[in-house]
Amino acid sequence: MAYAHKLIGTHSIKLRDFDPEYDAGLKREQGEEKLKKLSAELTRLQELLYAAGQHSVLIVLQGRDTSGKDGTIKTVMGPLNSLGCQVASFKVPTAEELAHDFLWRIHKQTPGKGEITIFNRSHYEDVLVVRVHKFAPDKVWRARYDHINNFEKLLTESNTIVLKFYLHISKEEQEQRLLEREQDATKYWKLSAGDWKERQYWNDYTRAYEDALNQCSAPHAPWFVVPANKKWFRNLAVAEAVVAAMKPYEKQWMKRLEEVGLKSKAEIEAFRAKP
Ligand code: AMP
Ligand code: MG
Repeated sequence: MAYAHKLIGTHSIKLRDFDPEYDAGLKREQGEEKLKKLSAELTRLQELLYAAGQHSVLIVLQGRDTSGKDGTIKTVMGPLNSLGCQVASFKVPTAEELAHDFLWRIHKQTPGKGEITIFNRSHYEDVLVVRVHKFAPDKVWRARYDHINNFEKLLTESNTIVLKFYLHISKEEQEQRLLEREQDATKYWKLSAGDWKERQYWNDYTRAYEDALNQCSAPHAPWFVVPANKKWFRNLAVAEAVVAAMKPYEKQWMKRLEEVGLKSKAEIEAFRAKP
């Protein structure tokens, strides 16, 4: 049973059709119990992915300020073996990055075979913040949907499993989270006047997200709309989708391990047999 809503073709979804409070009727304790099992499964699948070295996994996290991108990385990806797992955070582009095409800094961070990479923000900022704040002319950012689709196709044709998550929170929930940060000295470091400023563009971001989700969903690179008002459910939904995407490869990876193992064993035996 999937907890996030998967988009796999050209759509015309509206974010208002998705309830950010959705929790599949689960209690928090039930959700956390399920997450524990999924985490164990994810760790096991990561080891197979790493050892087989045939595929890569790219997890894109997008969402408004306070939607829980950092929290998802900490909770869902935290248990993974850091040997084969990286996080790449994309901030305001540097002068050098701006002097290149928008995918230049992105492509460099994509996962190699056997690796999982989590994008904390991504190439989608170039059709989100760039569009909302008119950092580039319409013609420039509009052309990027095709560039993104082609780029993600290239990645998947190079054996990358691409999964994109939009962490969906309500405007009220965001306000509450921003205010909570002001009440808790240990969270002061997260405070940013910019978050309150961006909030004024809520509807513009909604339109920009809807276009990105509608125009850049494909069976090989789906978007998932993740109900994210409840943090425990958000974690569960992301973990469930990642496990579901990796699981079909399990047998293939195990077969590969067996082949590699038998080959190495034969080599050792041949070495020992030499006089
Ligand atoms: P944070 O994720 O809170 O560390 O903030 C990173 C900031 O970088 C956000 O305000 C993003 O909108 C901004 N950002 C990321 N990518 C781009 C981009 N391509 N162009 C402009 N701003 C960006
Ligand atoms: Mg921020």
